[in-house]
Amino acid sequence: MTSADGTSPEPAALPASDSSGTAPLTSAQRVSAVLRRAVATGLVGEDQPVAGFLDTDGIRASVTSLHAAFAHAPEVLHTFAVKAASLTPVLRLLAGLGMGCEVASPGELRIALDAGVAPSRIVLDSPAKTRQEISEALALGVAVNADNLGELRRIDALRPAGSTSVVGLRVNPQVGGGSIGAMSTATATSKFGVALRDPGARDRVVRAFADRPWLTRLHAHVGSQGCPPALIAEGVAETYRLAEEINRTLGTRQITSLDIGGGLPVNFDGDETRPTFAAHTRMLGAAVPGLFDGRYALVTEFGRSLLAKNGFIGARVEYVKEAGGRRIAVTHAGAQTATRTVLMPDAWPLRIGAFDAGGDPRTGAPLCQDIAGPCCFAGDVVAHGRELPELEEGDLVVLYDTGAYYFSTPWAYNSLPRPAVHGFTTGRSGSVRLTTVRAAQTLDEIAAESGLAHVDALVSLARPPGD
Ligand SMILES: *Cc1c(COP(=O)(O)O)cnc(C)c1O
Repeated sequence: MTSADGTSPEPAALPASDSSGTAPLTSAQRVSAVLRRAVATGLVGEDQPVAGFLDTDGIRASVTSLHAAFAHAPEVLHTFAVKAASLTPVLRLLAGLGMGCEVASPGELRIALDAGVAPSRIVLDSPAKTRQEISEALALGVAVNADNLGELRRIDALRPAGSTSVVGLRVNPQVGGGSIGAMSTATATSKFGVALRDPGARDRVVRAFADRPWLTRLHAHVGSQGCPPALIAEGVAETYRLAEEINRTLGTRQITSLDIGGGLPVNFDGDETRPTFAAHTRMLGAAVPGLFDGRYALVTEFGRSLLAKNGFIGARVEYVKEAGGRRIAVTHAGAQTATRTVLMPDAWPLRIGAFDAGGDPRTGAPLCQDIAGPCCFAGDVVAHGRELPELEEGDLVVLYDTGAYYFSTPWAYNSLPRPAVHGFTTGRSGSVRLTTVRAAQTLDEIAAESGLAHVDALVSLARPPGD
């Protein structure tokens, strides 16, 4: 089976406390209901050993809480950082909920447009934009945040008269990093933005604005997972002060909007959403008292905090074995879909759930197990020495909180296919509906991507005659 029919509800399966409205479902209960439906319809199991699942109700609720947290700001464009879930149906859902897109490549721009997002609601942010990418964005009316002064000079040459694109400049407030170096964009030596505290940088930035009346936005994305919200707020405060300084110096309110980036971290060790968007805006408001008074329109670019807790990976246990006294469950969820967790296990731990082959939670006594993946390298383990009910062949493991940056961002290692992604909704009576967001990659697609069209290219490559 390749797609869910999504029509016949599963029999009541959720706890009675849900239908009486007294206790919200835990993620394990909701996940179990979805897994049982997915197993029954062939979306996960022997033939489809790994798949991603997205909670559409949860996504709607997350977007609602984002909007509510910024409701007191007169003008805000909330964009979704497309790299967090580069799936066209997700972008279409988000667009319908009033969100734009933050894109960082021609591919991301393309899928945002395919999803029906208006160019005026798209922000282009990559640090390595080519002249062609810049020209296309400016022709479409997509907002462009220049990463550096060299890029601004390119924009000088490429910007068509009457361009409707908002153009901004990304700055690096250099407020420091968080607990994950690779996620920290505001360190002293970060590759992103104009490093604001470097000697002479502030003056150069002021001059860049003075020379370009069409440069009307400042942008800062201080960091992602591992960056404390207080550090993000400090970076936004620095950016706000710079905007005020520039406008004061120029004697006009040339900067009309601030793009404050995304980066709100996600709690990967429990069901609770922490920190909330509301807590974040309270912290921003405390750090930057004028931020929400309407003097600047705002743009946000959240990714992980909107999607992570609204998705999970389900994967079949193909074998269980022992090695050196360690119990190992060999599953189909490894580095091809949980790349960061496998390659940087200390920075990206995930909660794992144990379910039987039918999708019901396993309840046995905890046993110390490694949860390994299918890739052919020894480190392909998504959880080391985890206490979980004993897993058996055919069981399902769940990788929680993987709705952002996991199944949507696969790694082609071992020519493993991109897993399918399914969206779900759960009714209060326990019914589950599923729909396909992306089909699993086929062997024909893998063959095509592996150069099948050029199969003889190397054997027929002859040395230049006479050389
Ligand atoms: C990745 C990124 C984001 C989104 O970060 P999250 O941590 O997913 O919220 C926003 N803006 C820029 C420029 C980014 O590179």
